[in-house]
Amino acid sequence: MTGVRVALYPGTFDPFTNGHLDILRRGAALFDRVVVAVGARLGKQMLFEAAERVRLIEESAAAAGLKNIAVLGFDGLVSGFARAQAATVLLRGVRNSADYEYEAVMATTNAKLAPGLETVFLVARPEVAFLSSSLIKEVVRAGGAADEFVPAPVAAALRARS
Ligand code: ADP
Repeated sequence: MTGVRVALYPGTFDPFTNGHLDILRRGAALFDRVVVAVGARLGKQMLFEAAERVRLIEESAAAAGLKNIAVLGFDGLVSGFARAQAATVLLRGVRNSADYEYEAVMATTNAKLAPGLETVFLVARPEVAFLSSSLIKEVVRAGGAADEFVPAPVAAALRARS
């Protein structure tokens, strides 16, 4: 135990939304360091490559003034990556009861795979609780602007794609 409390915030972040940023900001205030772990999700239809998602989260966090964070791509098990990063906490956001059902199963599984790894849920703020990456994808694919749902660097990248 180093005394430094590291939380891993895993997700797909395709794309990173204002809801994700809110969880990251609140997590960064709770823990010494938050490592955002960007899952590759190979085979799925993605908007952005993993490396680009990493860059967009770095830029969004910098623009929000967050300093005690790092953003890394990963594949494989979240519990293994948490151990590799010396993280003792998994940080997740919960928007509704469907999220809770899923997150409770994941938290239990991860605790079994890595005893001692605790999952901490932060309840989504109502202002952003309706947001999901899949909603943004739908808006963008239908030709709409997602500017008010995502941090400025993500909005710029989405505009550059269309
Ligand atoms: P995953 O593919 O692992 O579900 P996501 O990128 O969709 O990854 O989400 C990562 C985490 O952020 C999850 O814990 C999810 O519940 C949370 N999250 C997603 N959208 C929001 C939001 N609008 N407000 C709060 N938390 C959110």
